[in-house]
Amino acid sequence: MILKAFTFNSFGVNGFVLSNDAGDAILIDPSAGSEQEEQALARYIEQNKLTVKHLLNTHLHLDHVLGNAFVARKYGVQPEAHEEDAFMLDLQEEQSQMYGLPMREPSPGLGNYLAEGDAVEVPGIRLQVIHVAGHSPGGIAFFCENPGEVNGQANVPPLLFPGDILFAGSRGRSDLFGGDDHALVTGIKNKLLTLPKETVVFPGHGPMTTIGDESRWY
Ligand SMILES: [Zn+2]
Ligand SMILES: [Zn+2]
Repeated sequence: MILKAFTFNSFGVNGFVLSNDAGDAILIDPSAGSEQEEQALARYIEQNKLTVKHLLNTHLHLDHVLGNAFVARKYGVQPEAHEEDAFMLDLQEEQSQMYGLPMREPSPGLGNYLAEGDAVEVPGIRLQVIHVAGHSPGGIAFFCENPGEVNGQANVPPLLFPGDILFAGSRGRSDLFGGDDHALVTGIKNKLLTLPKETVVFPGHGPMTTIGDESRWY
């Protein structure tokens, strides 16, 4: 697998492109917020001759869906996320004003719902869906248990893409649309901290961490 990270828009969202040897690509929160960022993403996809197979959102806060319209139009894929967050796509304009985050074009509706236990796959890359409510009702983390070789490095531990559920040294806020700190902490403890300690975590904002490091706080 080739794993490429981008940090996009004024909220500094970490977006990811995962691709296999055949060039099949899975995008996670490609949150491009300007034409420049859209072009940077498109350039990477074109230079590496990738075919975008999936457009995944960890959750549907505006900062994470800013790139959806561009990716959907250019690559002919529809966003996939948890059904319980879908209501936020009707609140994009409100979120734009509330957060002071300009929106160039609203995200289209979801083409597929992802729920606990689902898996998103291209050959050689399998992402398991873990639902943790609390930062948003339909927040999901993508867990890659066997990433194989990543960016030329062998024996890479499992990878986790938790969006804003879990950050290095903290967790997502719970004072937004349908947030619930109790549910968030319970979900983190029961579903994320039970993953292998060596799991490398790529949060939706800020630096990487590991499940072992984050376990110290709970
Ligand atoms: Zn969020
Ligand atoms: Zn965010």
